[in-house]
Amino acid sequence: MNPNQSSFFEEGLKLISFCPLCQAKQGAMEASTVEETADNHLVHLRCRQCQSSILALVTVTPMGLSSVGMITDLSVADARRFKESEPIDFDEVIALNLDLKNHSLFYQTLVGV
Ligand SMILES: [Zn+2]
Repeated sequence: MNPNQSSFFEEGLKLISFCPLCQAKQGAMEASTVEETADNHLVHLRCRQCQSSILALVTVTPMGLSSVGMITDLSVADARRFKESEPIDFDEVIALNLDLKNHSLFYQTLVGV
């Protein structure tokens, strides 16, 4: 790990050192890098206490580090796999809905109708 990465992780881990969902304190979050460029780091965080996961984009700016996070059900392996995927479009959502309707038991379970 080069000195810049070390600094990034020290500062970055301060930003993400507690779980926003269960408030577990330092050491609860397990961090894995999904992708990184010179200024942007996409990090997958999993809370050891409540098992929730967060995807956080940590950006290095001249003013310091900033981060934006979202709760996810993706594992770190899923996040690495899906980051290269094309976004789904409306037609694909409708096609999936029609397919599910053809499997009525599954559809009723999923949608609750
Ligand atoms: Zn938690």
